[in-house]
Amino acid sequence: MLRRTMAEFDIKGGLQNVWKRIDEVLLHRSQDIKTARPVLVAVSKTKPADAVIEAYQAGQRDFGENYVQELEEKSRHPDIVAQCPDIRWHFIGHMQSNKINKVLAVPNLYMIQTVDSQKLATKLDAAWSKVQPPKDEPLKVLIQINTSGEDVKSGIEPKEAPALFEFIKSNLKHLKLMGIMTIGAYGFDYSNGPNPDFVSLMQVHRSICEGNSLAPESVLVSMGMSNDYDRAIEMGSTVVRVGTSIFGYRAAKA
Ligand SMILES: *Cc1c(COP(=O)(O)O)cnc(C)c1O
Repeated sequence: MLRRTMAEFDIKGGLQNVWKRIDEVLLHRSQDIKTARPVLVAVSKTKPADAVIEAYQAGQRDFGENYVQELEEKSRHPDIVAQCPDIRWHFIGHMQSNKINKVLAVPNLYMIQTVDSQKLATKLDAAWSKVQPPKDEPLKVLIQINTSGEDVKSGIEPKEAPALFEFIKSNLKHLKLMGIMTIGAYGFDYSNGPNPDFVSLMQVHRSICEGNSLAPESVLVSMGMSNDYDRAIEMGSTVVRVGTSIFGYRAAKA
């Protein structure tokens, strides 16, 4: 018997399962939830270009990476450039100031999900205004919120998020603020009830929408990964970031 290698993981099947599950959850989701239909971001970190192309060919367009160097390499990979013209790259990793220009130079960069301070937002805004060739569109961003209060996690405190939202909206014309995101604590036990990270992010969503007179469906909410994207959608998530359920297990980073 041949051993099944990572490369042989059925990516198309994985994607189809996730798409199907998203539809199921939406069908049964409470009518009180007024957020938009979720976008699936396929998190391809540590996976080869071939895996991205396979998912793209199955119909997936949004992809997420959280290591800058890997995003740079994959987004410029000749096979991806040739075969995935409409790919949309989401940066979902911690953003260091000295890497901003590298990330902004990524071909088909679509959104940065991890803006967590006024300082970083201001630098991104300035850097985007200088990108060559000049862009006709502002850079799409989400504010990352540290809902779990863990020191190791990036993100702004939930109570400070509305002020950052208003700061970006009123001052940074080169950024298009699309919504908010959280990573949350790993391994929440759902027999204890709803995930407090999701509850917290939805509270921030509500206060931002109310404070700025915005329709709930106009402010994106990025929450939910392989083990809980369905629960996240039940609570109002509009962007789910799923890796393992699409691409199979990742080798641990050395
Ligand atoms: C790796 C990663 C994911 C995907 O995690 P899976 O459990 O493999 O689905 C989602 N979001 C972020 C920020 C990640 O780093």
